[in-house]
Amino acid sequence: MKRLLAALAVTVFAAPAAAQSDTEAPAAEQPRSESASPDGASEDAAEAGTTASGTSSSVGVKVTALGSHDGEFCARDRAMVFEDPNGTRILYDAGRTVAGANDERLGEIDVVLVSHVHGDHLGDQRIESVNAGTCDAPETNVSTTPNSNSVEIAVGKDAQMVTGSEMASFLGKKMEAAGGDPKASQLVRFGASVDVGGVAITTVPAVHSNGLSGDFIDGPLGEHLKTAGLNAYVGQPTGYVLTFSNGLSVYLSGDTGVTAEQETVVGQQYGVQLAVINIGDTYTTGPRKPPLSSTTSSSRRV
Ligand SMILES: [Zn+2]
Repeated sequence: MKRLLAALAVTVFAAPAAAQSDTEAPAAEQPRSESASPDGASEDAAEAGTTASGTSSSVGVKVTALGSHDGEFCARDRAMVFEDPNGTRILYDAGRTVAGANDERLGEIDVVLVSHVHGDHLGDQRIESVNAGTCDAPETNVSTTPNSNSVEIAVGKDAQMVTGSEMASFLGKKMEAAGGDPKASQLVRFGASVDVGGVAITTVPAVHSNGLSGDFIDGPLGEHLKTAGLNAYVGQPTGYVLTFSNGLSVYLSGDTGVTAEQETVVGQQYGVQLAVINIGDTYTTGPRKPPLSSTTSSSRRV
């Protein structure tokens, strides 16, 4: 996976490897970090443990993968931290491989992003500690339902959550249930942006599904849903375009097939220089169908 990290570092179109189940992780090796800047310059950054407490590059955006196992890219890995040169830190899809808010790799977190509410992204369970179990079968035996790993981290870090669609009100209620401020869950409708700590966060639609399992709903409603084999509606899944204070523009696809907005909004409007694409070929787009063409974006594929 070092090769992929090199791809991240030169701000190219990164093509993550597939993961199992209904989703497909953004790929990167951990605990190494990489730094990316708009002109494509790169520099090796510190290991994740250092990253969490260290200072960022004066020009680069530091990207750190928080996987289940040190130095590996494993089946359940989803989580990434992006650190703006000004210090703002954004956690993307905590999933199951972050050991809650006390995971020492997190450091300060200002924003928690959730692409959609499937358990392996929102986090229906989590690791107890890094390197538990094997890379192929990480031990994610700490249940976080009916709340979630993402919300518990957001509340524990006093961070904001930013999502598109009806996920925002649902997550606000979960933040309140966890002792946090429900207003810290912000709705940003697709194509619109909010500035948090000098980073512009734009939401774009993803083409996937976004059914909320009854496991996340306490009481009889959750039980009824599970009995009927139904999920609750929480709106459309979300992708993100992050525009950092140094000008770097990054696309986070979430789980998705090819969308029109990848050509128009992500490519033409924002001209993203770095893309983290979830690839699976059964539940999301596959590696033979790159969603961003080199003609519409400054990104390129390696
Ligand atoms: Zn999914």
